[in-house]
Amino acid sequence: MDKEEEKKSSRRRFLKNSLMAGASTLAAGQLLQSCQNIATPSTGKVKVLTPDGKVVEIDASHLKEVKGEVLATRKQAVEGIKGRKFVMVIDLSKCKNARKCVEACQEGHSLSRAQEWMRIYLMQDNKKTAPYWFPRPCFHCDNPLCVSVCPVGATYKRSDGIVLIDNDRCIGCKFCMTGCPYSARVFNWTEPEHQKLEEKDYTPELNVPAKEGTVGKCVFCADKLRNNELPRCVQACPMGVLYFGDVLEDTVTNGDETVRFSDLIRDRSGYRYLETLGTEPSVYYLPPVNRMFPVDRGLEGLDENIRARYDNVDYVKNQKKEKK
Ligand code: SF4
Repeated sequence: MDKEEEKKSSRRRFLKNSLMAGASTLAAGQLLQSCQNIATPSTGKVKVLTPDGKVVEIDASHLKEVKGEVLATRKQAVEGIKGRKFVMVIDLSKCKNARKCVEACQEGHSLSRAQEWMRIYLMQDNKKTAPYWFPRPCFHCDNPLCVSVCPVGATYKRSDGIVLIDNDRCIGCKFCMTGCPYSARVFNWTEPEHQKLEEKDYTPELNVPAKEGTVGKCVFCADKLRNNELPRCVQACPMGVLYFGDVLEDTVTNGDETVRFSDLIRDRSGYRYLETLGTEPSVYYLPPVNRMFPVDRGLEGLDENIRARYDNVDYVKNQKKEKK
C-alpha cells in the first residue's frame, strides 16, 4: 500500500470505528443487505448474521447483493445518524487555496464548475493585517435561519446536526438563500450535464441528481458518514486543513491526526464565524496565526474568473498598484 492509499485507508477507518453504532439504525431491508450469508440458499431458507451479532433465518428471496455504498432511505435521511453530533474544524493557518476540497465536492456531487458548495474566500480583516484563505462550507447551524424561512419544509435540521434539502419538495422560492447569512446556498439554474445517479437513487444525503429550479448546498457528505467515511473535502485536502468528527465523542480528525475537539478549540482559540448572529454554527475556525504558506501561493495558476473574485481585497489591489 503506498503512502496515499495508507492515508485514505486510515481516514476511512476512523469513522468506521466511531460510527459502527450507526449500523443499528439501518432499516430492516438494508439490514438484510448488510448481513453476511452463512448458509447455502439452496433450501430456500438461509441463516444470516446481522450487524448486531444475531443469527436470523430468512427466505433466500429476500437477500439482495450489496453493491457499493449504502444509500439512506427517506426516513433515515430525515432522522439522521442516531447518537451523533457532527462538527468540522477548519485550520486557517494551513490553507493555501489548493482548491482540492472544492474539486472533490464538485466531482462527488456532479456540480458544474460555477457551482461551489465549498467556497474559498480571501479575507483581510483590515487594511493593515495580512490576508488569509477562508474555506466556507455550509455551517450546519444549530439555529438555521434557512430552515426557519422555508415555506414547504424542504430544508430541515437532523438529530446529528446536519441540515439537508429535499429537492423533491423544494419549490425554488429562494427564501432560504436570502435567510442564510453566510451565502452558503446556490441555485440550480440548470441540471448538471453529467448526473451520476439515476432519479430512483435520489437521497437528500447526497442531493444528486440536482433538479433545475431547486437550491443546493454542502451536505457534510452525509452519504459518506453513513458509510463510515469522512466527507469528500476532508479526504481530498492535501494540507490537513479540515478536521471532522463527533462533538459528543469530543474527537475530530483530518485523517492524519486525531485530536480532542475541546482541546483543539481551547488551545488554538477556535471561534465560529459571525457567532453573534446566534446561528450556532457546527463549523469552527482556528485563527490564521503562524501560517504555513504565503498567501500569494494561492493566487498562482488560478483560472482568471476565480482570480477576479479577489480583486477587491486590499492586498490584491495594492499588489496591482505596485506592479504599475
Ligand atoms: Fe442554513 Fe446558511 Fe446555516 Fe447552512 S450556513 S445551515 S444554509 S443558515
